[in-house]
Amino acid sequence: MKNDEILIPHSMHKELLVLERWTDQFPWLVAGFTTRHGGNSRDPFHSLNCGLHVGDHSEDVVSNRRRLLQLTGYAEQEWVSANQTHSDHLYHVQPTDGGKGLHTLDSALQDIDGIFTDSPDLFLASFYADCVPLFFLDPVKRIIGMAHAGWKGTLAQIGPKMIKEWQSKFQSDPDHILAVIGPSIGGCCYEVDESVIEAFLQVTDINEFVIPTNHRKYMLDLKKCNVEFLKKAGLKGVNIEVSSWCTSCHVDLFYSHRKEQGRTGRMTAFMGKREEG
Ligand SMILES: [Zn+2]
Repeated sequence: MKNDEILIPHSMHKELLVLERWTDQFPWLVAGFTTRHGGNSRDPFHSLNCGLHVGDHSEDVVSNRRRLLQLTGYAEQEWVSANQTHSDHLYHVQPTDGGKGLHTLDSALQDIDGIFTDSPDLFLASFYADCVPLFFLDPVKRIIGMAHAGWKGTLAQIGPKMIKEWQSKFQSDPDHILAVIGPSIGGCCYEVDESVIEAFLQVTDINEFVIPTNHRKYMLDLKKCNVEFLKKAGLKGVNIEVSSWCTSCHVDLFYSHRKEQGRTGRMTAFMGKREEG
């Protein structure tokens, strides 16, 4: 962890990394990312697996999710999560969605990779093991949101789409929107085929975030790519912060789909807000 890391291990709870720079400034907000520690799941999901879709025992997953709710002070009926499909589909979460996705895949929002809300008393949850979590906050309009950006979601510009949606729906000023690019597989570990790079070449200049290795393989830095896309979408560079955590380099702390050959759990990126008292 670098000194200026944005996601800080919680001082008491090994389960959590917290977005302290945001939550210190905005006491009505919770925001962070779970580690793999402090849960009930067994190998290869040990121990705080929050993904219901990976083959783990669902009762263990639900108890791990309850642990997260308990630590953050949210209730079961406030939880909202989606079945993520590497799409660029966004969803405006409403108070009536409270409770969706907590216990079963069937009750989750379907085919959604970006969730956001202007409503209080909702706990937005999304799941990761190498893909890039994008956190968004408009502290002026009090809007929160997250997007699941693997290479497909990144390429489909799910981040910029979130910003456009907030501009049209809430009259958000992009100058006010803050973004954090969370723990994910880094440019150090994410090797991809030429076909992936060719897809990126169709939409952007790749020099900033792709390094050729050999045998037509490439190291792809999805965090940097998302920074570029968010700047192009109108966010100020100073308002975009990037986590230095690489999930593949730190399987002691995180699940890594790539490093663990697909047999692993999922971390949760979470955000919620209360009405200020
Ligand atoms: Zn790495």
